[in-house]
Amino acid sequence: MGRWKNGAQCAAMLTFDVDGETLWLSGDITQLDQVGMLSQGTYGPRVAVPLILNLLRQKDLKATFFIPGWTAEAHHKSLVPVVEWGHEVGHHGWLHEWPTALTRDEEQEVLEQGLHALRELTGKDPAGYRSPAWEFSDNTLTLLNDYGFKYSSNLMSHFIPWQHAETGIIELPVSWLLDDAPFFLYGPGGRNSKPIHAADDVFKIWTEEFRGIYQYGGLFNLTMHPQIIGRPGRVQMLSRLIDYINSFPDVWWATGEEVADYWVEHGDASPVSGASIDL
Ligand SMILES: [Zn+2]
Repeated sequence: MGRWKNGAQCAAMLTFDVDGETLWLSGDITQLDQVGMLSQGTYGPRVAVPLILNLLRQKDLKATFFIPGWTAEAHHKSLVPVVEWGHEVGHHGWLHEWPTALTRDEEQEVLEQGLHALRELTGKDPAGYRSPAWEFSDNTLTLLNDYGFKYSSNLMSHFIPWQHAETGIIELPVSWLLDDAPFFLYGPGGRNSKPIHAADDVFKIWTEEFRGIYQYGGLFNLTMHPQIIGRPGRVQMLSRLIDYINSFPDVWWATGEEVADYWVEHGDASPVSGASIDL
């Protein structure tokens, strides 16, 4: 029997950070005239999100979409189907600000702006928060707790969830290894200029890590960005990845909120990541 719902051996989450143009604005709205640069981000909500939604419908899966408030407003029409098709929407800042660069008041304002925009999109408060930089300030966890968030998906210190001691917020851990950006994100002029990998290479890397996480009964929490994973060839790879994972018995596909809810009830509530893992 695995540790997951109905004895599943492994939990698997597909998450999409729908940054849109905010990834390229770097919190600076004055750069809105950089049309060529920003078009890389526009591709995400406008073209990639529909491709991804179609794929998820074909595979009968629900995913979690973390959306900056600014993007939720600017691309409202493209993002309504995310909600209509039953996917979870989580908080991802307002203009993709790094919490570590903000004062407490600024961070609170950004949190509220994001909340307001997501309520307009979904009609409810989000349960989850993913920092635009996977980074916390000293105030982040307290603010998340004050605003009623159930979970965070930002830290890398394990591959099973844990509960933050101070607040009880559940952490759904991430990893650069399970992120599309290190393999595919490219920008001219030095910024983000990494070699672009073949999707087949990344399929190999992600399936390799899946096999390990499955063996140890962990959480396979894949972070993707529609503007990156949503290129046609990569969507095909994601389709193959889902099929590959589905070839294993006892995998529990879940949204972030479902995993967090389950962990509150059934997980080991040890606040120390790693202290309780039973290998
Ligand atoms: Zn982001």
